[in-house]
Amino acid sequence: KEMSGNQFQLFFPDIENRAVEQIQLENDLFKALQHDWEFELYYQPKFNVRTNELIGMESLIRWNHPQLGTLSPAHFIPLAEETGLIIPLGEWVIRKACLQMKKWYEDGHKNLVISANLSPHQFSQKNLVPMVKEILIETGLPPFLLELELTENLIIHNTEQTLKTIGELKELGVQISIDDFGTGYSSLGYLKDFPVDTLKIDKSFIDDITTNSNNAAITKTIITLADSLHLNVIAEGVEEEEQAKFLADHGCHWIQGFYYSRPLQSKAFEHHFLKKFTQ
Ligand code: C2E
Ligand code: CA
Ligand code: CA
Ligand code: CA
Repeated sequence: KEMSGNQFQLFFPDIENRAVEQIQLENDLFKALQHDWEFELYYQPKFNVRTNELIGMESLIRWNHPQLGTLSPAHFIPLAEETGLIIPLGEWVIRKACLQMKKWYEDGHKNLVISANLSPHQFSQKNLVPMVKEILIETGLPPFLLELELTENLIIHNTEQTLKTIGELKELGVQISIDDFGTGYSSLGYLKDFPVDTLKIDKSFIDDITTNSNNAAITKTIITLADSLHLNVIAEGVEEEEQAKFLADHGCHWIQGFYYSRPLQSKAFEHHFLKKFTQ
């Protein structure tokens, strides 16, 4: 089986092959966006480190491709970004996340915050703020229960427009978190000017936090920084008990990772984390 795989690559030079694949995938993506049943949000829980309480969940998109099976975002988000299809796709994500959280809210979960990832292209689109506002009205989700995750790199470019957009999103009442925090090579000066709520420490620091003293130091510094700026701080990519313990010992507020749970389909998420109220 492996042999035939290799031969296939010999007959179709990789570059050409990939170009064809990309065009096909772009077509499929365009078509899939005409309806919406091929896309699905998975939800990964976030917990309070100290109390172990569920505080909310991150929405992570999957594409149930009719031929290729379940595709992770790495397979199609970059393509969606390049082609502009991220605009309708990103809108679908926010609407779906709000609808889902509104349902759970109605089921009695009044304090959970749902987050959605915003890509750079999506963030710089003109009607982002009206779009988010419209979705909040349409779904009836209390705005403070929606959090938008922006990457640090997105935030440090084009600071003036970014500052304006974040300010307008805050005015709507939604929460803003800085994703992949620590990877953006930025001066930290911008933090005090940006009305953000949460720093999310990048997984790359958490991975070897118990063995790499530099990454441990960076993590502790980010936690201290968040505390002194009165921001929330969450660690992502927590896979082991020792990492969770380190983070708890050093005062990290919230935590997310495979150690607690992989991202789950809506029903499975309810079953594992929400059954207390939804029976
Ligand atoms: P991200 O926002 O940094 O999301 C975290 C990624 O790490 C997710 O991968 C999640 O499944 C994974 N992860 C969480 N905990 C662990 C862990 O303990 N160990 C390991 N190894 N991985 C963990 P996923 O779902 O494949 O998403 C990858 C990226 O795709 C996301 O990175 C985000 O940048 C992007 N993405 C996902 N959904 C959306 C979306 O709806 N819109 C946009 N624009 N981007 C999205
Ligand atoms: Ca994220
Ligand atoms: Ca992240
Ligand atoms: Ca990351």
